Amino acid sequence: VIDHGVPNRSVVTTCAYCGVGCSFKAELKGEEVVRMVPYKDGGANEGHSCVKGRFAWGYATHKDRVTTPMVRETIHDAWRPVSWDEAIAFTADRFRSIQDKYGRASIGAITSSRCTNEEVYVVQKLVRAAFHNNNVDTCARVCHSPTGYGLKNAFGTSAGTQDFKSVDEADVILVIGANPTDGHPVFASRMKKRLRQGAKLIVADPRRIDLVRSPHIEAAHHLQLQPGTNVAVMNAIGHVVVTEGLVDRTFVAERCDSVSFARWEDFVAGEENSPEAVEGVTGVPAAEIRAAARLYATGGNAAIYYGLGVTEHSQGSTMVMAMANLAMATGNLGRNGVGVNPLRGQNNVQGSCDMGSFPHEYPGYRHVGEQGVRALFEERWGVSLDDEPGLRIPNMLAAALDGSFKGLLVQGEDIAQSDPDTQHVTAGLEAMECVVVQDLFLNETAAYAHVFLPGTSFLEKDGTFTNAERRINRVRPVMPSRTGLQEWEVVSRIANALGYPMHYDNAAQIMDEIASVTPTFTGVSFGHLDAHGSVQWPCNESAPDGTPIMHVGQFVRGLGKFALTKFVPTEERTNRFYPLILTTGRILSQYNVGAQTRRTPNSTWHQEDVLELHPHDADVRGIEDGAMVSIASRKGATTLRAKISDRMPQGVVYTTFHHPVTGANVITTENSDWATNCPEYKVTAVQVTLSNQP
Ligand code: SF4
Repeated sequence: VIDHGVPNRSVVTTCAYCGVGCSFKAELKGEEVVRMVPYKDGGANEGHSCVKGRFAWGYATHKDRVTTPMVRETIHDAWRPVSWDEAIAFTADRFRSIQDKYGRASIGAITSSRCTNEEVYVVQKLVRAAFHNNNVDTCARVCHSPTGYGLKNAFGTSAGTQDFKSVDEADVILVIGANPTDGHPVFASRMKKRLRQGAKLIVADPRRIDLVRSPHIEAAHHLQLQPGTNVAVMNAIGHVVVTEGLVDRTFVAERCDSVSFARWEDFVAGEENSPEAVEGVTGVPAAEIRAAARLYATGGNAAIYYGLGVTEHSQGSTMVMAMANLAMATGNLGRNGVGVNPLRGQNNVQGSCDMGSFPHEYPGYRHVGEQGVRALFEERWGVSLDDEPGLRIPNMLAAALDGSFKGLLVQGEDIAQSDPDTQHVTAGLEAMECVVVQDLFLNETAAYAHVFLPGTSFLEKDGTFTNAERRINRVRPVMPSRTGLQEWEVVSRIANALGYPMHYDNAAQIMDEIASVTPTFTGVSFGHLDAHGSVQWPCNESAPDGTPIMHVGQFVRGLGKFALTKFVPTEERTNRFYPLILTTGRILSQYNVGAQTRRTPNSTWHQEDVLELHPHDADVRGIEDGAMVSIASRKGATTLRAKISDRMPQGVVYTTFHHPVTGANVITTENSDWATNCPEYKVTAVQVTLSNQP
């Protein structure tokens, strides 16, 4: 513990890490942060916190921070520190000449879920209004894009259905492909409290996560499925609900589309979806699936919580819709204690999606092809807009390799480390003529950049983050920007240099503009948030105090829509060369690729990623606990330390992805979700052998 002295002032702001969105009081002595105290009036955390928010903020002043803009002619040259004016002119000149040579669709941008709503909004506006195309995508592409697709299709909006408090009234909690203890600790504590009060727990996960058996908690059912078989398990649960007469007929008749329900009912009732039929492929005993289905359907209020173990699959969107089917069929929507709830990884995944970061949608999830919507934005922004959806991140990289995409602005994301199939990503970046990275540190992606625009940490930002329960929280500047500018100012200056006038005096004005063009935000302003603490969207004339629970009485789309969710096995198969399946996850003290947490005292709790494997799989390979092992896939290889663990089923290995040195994405594949291109991080066929490295 470092003693920073006695604080003499404080600022209330929001954590920089996960989608729980905890509020903190940053206590300062002069200009120096002394400590972060969880804020008791925080709507999402009510005075609680975890080791990331509490202790891992020192990266904001770490010596590795780059605070001066830099440019270079080629990626082989040394960086040259320059003024903001020169960096912005350099960026605009390069982008303009690329568009002159290759056409207006040859450049684009990626927004960040670590940035504020206001910062994200101006980047997508830069692309649409100044680049004159829709080539904007978000890092949510690689995490929760299937959530956006699936929930919009079923319910009419791309967001979780409940507030966190709702879990207090759940009787049955179904956790699928999430490890809340490590990934969403403050919400996990709330969930565990409810479980200790007697709520029943079902966990569907290949790994025996902490929640399955922890002090005073024992899951009623752990469906320890083979990676890649979520949809088969969920259809089998649906099969039991339908064939055993457990459908809530009243709810379905009143709230759902009858034609789509009838089709789904016929489909899941098919013998091929029975628990017995899928037992061989899922590895889950049929009796266990039957018992879990009965508990979910008859145990009272049943709530689903899920994470990237659902979305990061070739059938990620299908699985989101399969869960929505189950919740609708059993009437578990539209009140406290139920729902379909994505646990978002980054603090502003919800917000970055809300702000129009997808290449086919404006802020508020409205399609760029809708003439009336486009006319609204054209009128508000004073420019004519493209009606064709733009490129997604993987399409941008593919187009770069084809020679038609040449310029990219990357806001606060390290795609060279975080995106799958690293060699493909870096080859795409190398093929571009201008890569602009806006970040705190010279990350792996910056190695391929021509311009580095220093970003601001959460302690310098002024704006809002939106958490997993759609709660819009204020992010307040605790210290002055170390770069001299806010990120939205930098983006605005690029737009101006490209000839599109973009002027804001402060972040509050940007939120006012967001509210003026987004029907679910019309009641949101900094004034409202400062007066009320936080608010959950929709916040508008119909819901001036916000909306903790969605779809009460009626779904946003009107009638809830069932989807046919046929199970299609992943193309990633094991064989005698790659006989094991690798899946990935997080640990409590670290965050994503570790760019922030590795530069804080939290690194003492986790100094390397390790490979967990079942005792039998270790034994047959002569691997002892702690040995260095080589892990190889069809894409590449890396080296890790082995940890023998009975948390893993035989045939499945597991690692975290917090350290660049191990680079788990060197071995992940190009497979992705059929609807959204979200990468299939969770299923990679691998071989593990003893390494020669000490
Ligand atoms: Fe809260 Fe998540 Fe931050 Fe932990 S990392 S303090 S749970 S927002």
